[in-house]
Amino acid sequence: MKTIRRRTFLKMIAAASTAPLLKPLSVLAVQPEASLVLFNGSIITVDGSDSVAEAIAVRGDRILAVGSTPQIKSFAGRNSTLIDLQGKAVTPGLIDSHAHLPPFGTRELYWVKLQGIESKEKVLELIAARAKETPEGKFINAWGVESMELSFMNRHDLDKVTTRHPVLVIHTTGQWGFANSAALKLAGVNQATTNPPGSLVEKDPRGEPTGLLVHYPALYLVRRVIPPPTADVMAKTIDHAAALYSREGVTSVHDNFFMVTGMSSVESAHLYFNLAASGRLPVRLKIWPYLPTLTDTLDAVSELFTGKKPNPASPLYKVGEMKRSDPATFERVWGGCKIAIDGSGPTAGWSRNPNALMLHSPSELRQMVSAIHRAGQQVSVHAVGNVAVQTMLDAFESAQQEHKRPDPRHRIEHALWPGDESLHRIRKSGVVISTHPQFIYAWGDRWGEGPKVPEFVPLRSFLDRQIPVAMGADPPAFPLWQPQYALWQAVARVSSGGRRFASSESISIKEALRLQTMGSAYAAFQERDLGSLEAGKLADMVVWDRNFLTIPTGEIRDAKASKTIVGGKIVFSRESAAL
Ligand SMILES: [Zn+2]
Repeated sequence: MKTIRRRTFLKMIAAASTAPLLKPLSVLAVQPEASLVLFNGSIITVDGSDSVAEAIAVRGDRILAVGSTPQIKSFAGRNSTLIDLQGKAVTPGLIDSHAHLPPFGTRELYWVKLQGIESKEKVLELIAARAKETPEGKFINAWGVESMELSFMNRHDLDKVTTRHPVLVIHTTGQWGFANSAALKLAGVNQATTNPPGSLVEKDPRGEPTGLLVHYPALYLVRRVIPPPTADVMAKTIDHAAALYSREGVTSVHDNFFMVTGMSSVESAHLYFNLAASGRLPVRLKIWPYLPTLTDTLDAVSELFTGKKPNPASPLYKVGEMKRSDPATFERVWGGCKIAIDGSGPTAGWSRNPNALMLHSPSELRQMVSAIHRAGQQVSVHAVGNVAVQTMLDAFESAQQEHKRPDPRHRIEHALWPGDESLHRIRKSGVVISTHPQFIYAWGDRWGEGPKVPEFVPLRSFLDRQIPVAMGADPPAFPLWQPQYALWQAVARVSSGGRRFASSESISIKEALRLQTMGSAYAAFQERDLGSLEAGKLADMVVWDRNFLTIPTGEIRDAKASKTIVGGKIVFSRESAAL
């Protein structure tokens, strides 16, 4: 055994006695050499007491120590990379709890992008321009209509633009869309088509489809005839989306709506899981495949979690192969099961919404939740309105009653305003709320005048009741992906049009940072490894061009990541990034 050098030993004793932030190492060990040392900065640790330190040392992919500059510099050796922060702030890597990388990257790279466009004429103009450069017969996909009117357009509008291409225009929320006649014909959607459960194929008075398809099951009727992306295209879209996140200081992403059934191929699921596991992406990735029906749910549970003979026809067969051959990697990438109960905007499950359209009956939903819960898995559910949240709480409580599990930690995605009556139930059942204060900024002006609207995204109420909260940006369903908007809006609560939302639901920037780091880590059972800068945790962190804790609230959205570090490696550096 090597003996400890006296100078090192004295340094360690001094460090341990003067700085509680520096976690003392065993005095029997030789002082380890750091691979990376960041010093002379403001290290916002988001640890249990919200400590701010000056420096941080990393060894390999883990944090070695956090403390004062002299303490931490003592870990520097011949092979260490030293970064003088010159006063800059460092936070834990931000974790986006709700995103969909394949469609996000596809929106950015390939689809006709409609975000921010209000008029139907302009939408049609953009699709016409795309039609001109698209070979006849090839599918045209557009994403991002923002109008909340289901009557925004119909197939006749789209037919005027092109009859030579099938066209599908999807609303920004992903909850409904408009197809032209060519797309409906290709998909075999006609007078005889009935509404798949939980959805609507709108018909005109003569019984002809209008082109409006509401909710995923109706959209699938058309989406399933769109050729799936090639492996190259899919990898490119995921790379692109991950790189966009990395530039903004995001180091982990939860993809909780990956469509393995309905439209993606078995190969694309395989490719996505492999890519996520490869370590090649600049973000860590966890995936919650979307299970649209009870049958899909039972199949997924059977394929992955029952030990039954695998079924090569299952969309999750190859993901199951990964689980059987490399369970540790599977665990690292697998998040849980995503389901949905209501829609969005006009179809969301609010108590006074006569048009609320639920995707499942309460009994079907209970069976789906129960199957996932019994398999020991986390349910992540899309539920926007207060009735949707109540329905989910009923299902979670009944699953827990029939099969008690410690800390199932099911999550509700969105929960824009669960209602006071649900807050104590959320708290009691240990449910995590994964939500989006940035929605206030981009969509606050569209949310109508209901008495409770000013309280939407009630972060203060959640935190006061110790309800765990995670934050995510939800691209491509939401136009922006930069987490700075979430941090800003958690505090400011003001729409882009200047509408002010209840300041009683505002939280501090320190609290907001905690939700975007530890809160999101907790939502994926990763709080022991991620979410704060503490010795032993994975070295995911971001150097910022300004300090969130000292800048005025209005400047939070302008903060830029100077360096993004994942597992001790610099994966993005603004200085060297291509403009
Ligand atoms: Zn989403």
